[in-house]
Amino acid sequence: MCDASADGAQDPVTGATVCMPCVLRSVARIIVTSENATVSSEPLAQLALALQQKDAFALQKLAAATQDTRSRNRRKAQLWRLDEKGALRWKGRLYIPDEQSLRQEIVSQSHDSRLSGHFGATRTLELISRHYYWPEVSKDVSEYVKTCLICQRANALRHLPFGQLSSLPIPSTVFEELTLDFIIGLPAVKHDACVVDAVLVIIDRYSKMALYILAQKT
Ligand SMILES: [Zn+2]
Repeated sequence: MCDASADGAQDPVTGATVCMPCVLRSVARIIVTSENATVSSEPLAQLALALQQKDAFALQKLAAATQDTRSRNRRKAQLWRLDEKGALRWKGRLYIPDEQSLRQEIVSQSHDSRLSGHFGATRTLELISRHYYWPEVSKDVSEYVKTCLICQRANALRHLPFGQLSSLPIPSTVFEELTLDFIIGLPAVKHDACVVDAVLVIIDRYSKMALYILAQKT
């Protein structure tokens, strides 16, 4: 959503135009931290409203919502609607525009803060979904929780303990045990009227004899 011509800055080294974030992470943190646990805070609602004016997705949904209201399509009109301050909401939840600093900060506050207590993805998503919405919110939450260092260090493992490593049995004769592997990502070439881009490697574990067969990745 960031317009490079409007929001861009010159890189002092290369001279290239760099697209700057519209909202700095530090600013987003202050605004999101001021959030009340039960109601959307005024600064956050104002920031979301200002960003919605430049957000292509919001503008598209706004036009559709206006059309639905005019055509009296009640079911659709209830999904996306404008609140009394003009902010776009989905099922009553404030739509957060495509501004990564703001979205990341909301996820961070819902997961990392003392009140949140590093819940898993489902509970973090539930906390966010009480007030906010954006497409792929579940994907953002899942990625954030998966990469949270504190969760990785502190959370107990919930699977069976790993078994001990053991070496493969030693074959007693040739062609008793074979290993198969594919080499992929090769440039495609034509071979006997076929296009090939991978190689199947078969190795006899006893004699180490190798067989290379041209193959297709798909
Ligand atoms: Zn965590």
